[in-house]
Amino acid sequence: MIPNLDWLEHAACAGMDPRAFFSIGNHARAQVNSARKVCATCPVREQCASWAIETGESNGVWGGMSQQELRKKRRRFTNRHKTSTTSPKAPA
Ligand code: SF4
Repeated sequence: MIPNLDWLEHAACAGMDPRAFFSIGNHARAQVNSARKVCATCPVREQCASWAIETGESNGVWGGMSQQELRKKRRRFTNRHKTSTTSPKAPA
């Protein structure tokens, strides 16, 4: 199934250099903070974060979240998904 990425048309980062969202080297923290400022104004922030979590995107800032934040959210998402789909004892 082809994912629906129509939300990208409304992204605050549309047309920006994608490197602004991928931290590198000594300026990583400053880059992440700069990217977050753009994300804070983005009308599709939730869709972006969901997409990154669901697809396992592990690099860069997505939905205003750093790589570490995305990893934490992904772990929660994966654990919840495993619980709800693989365990017959999962709560309804
Ligand atoms: S939340 Fe940030 S990375 Fe995601 S589309 Fe918006 S501006 Fe781009």
